[in-house]
Amino acid sequence: MSYRACKTCNKKVTESTGKGYWCARCQKDEESFTLRYVFSTKFSDATGEAWFSIFHEQAEILLGCSADELAKMKSQEETTNFLCQLKKAKWVSFLFRICVARTEYKNVKRQNSAANNCATSQHLIETSGEQQLLKCLCNSSKTLTEMATQVDRNAATRISQMIANVRSFNQTHGKPPALALVTVGNKKWFESYISLLKNRCTEVGIRFLHVELAGEVPKAQCVARVRDLNQDPDIQDISVQLPLPDTAK
Ligand SMILES: [Zn+2]
Repeated sequence: MSYRACKTCNKKVTESTGKGYWCARCQKDEESFTLRYVFSTKFSDATGEAWFSIFHEQAEILLGCSADELAKMKSQEETTNFLCQLKKAKWVSFLFRICVARTEYKNVKRQNSAANNCATSQHLIETSGEQQLLKCLCNSSKTLTEMATQVDRNAATRISQMIANVRSFNQTHGKPPALALVTVGNKKWFESYISLLKNRCTEVGIRFLHVELAGEVPKAQCVARVRDLNQDPDIQDISVQLPLPDTAK
């Protein structure tokens, strides 16, 4: 699940004929190497399951330790620690950006699926099922339906159903349903995410409202704002972006 990598460029090294390890990219022998993760993992969510390639940085978040540390556990016959460490990553919620690319090499078509930008569950957004689906599909230039069809037929059906539901809501109430996203403090981390979420909402006909609260806002004020939104007949769903700054927790 890991490979020997050059400490300078992260490319794979081979044992040198002389002493040390040869890096073809740097064109030199290195005294030592560092281990970098690369492996496949199965993820599942409400729409199904799939295998994805996991690369070093995301793997470190998933497993909670470096590839060097994990190899050490294994080699020192700390098998229990090693297995425990792997076990920790099972049945844990993460939010990923999924990247699917079709490639062709020597007339063989392949589909590479990789999970990037992994966030631990404490960064997950408190959300309902439909919102979650919207958010999972938030990272593509394709339209929501195109993307969903590519990912899973089931997801595509749910998207069409969602569009139909939004339309019917609109007809009954004479206005579209609205989603309010509350962010507290520095929104730099999720700026692109917010704009994509807004676009996805627009695409299915949901009105999107971004409520920005200052970072130093006290907890009581945050709660009051969410309570106000909850009583607003024009707002159907509220999402609070985590993590919150300490003052607002
Ligand atoms: Zn190198």
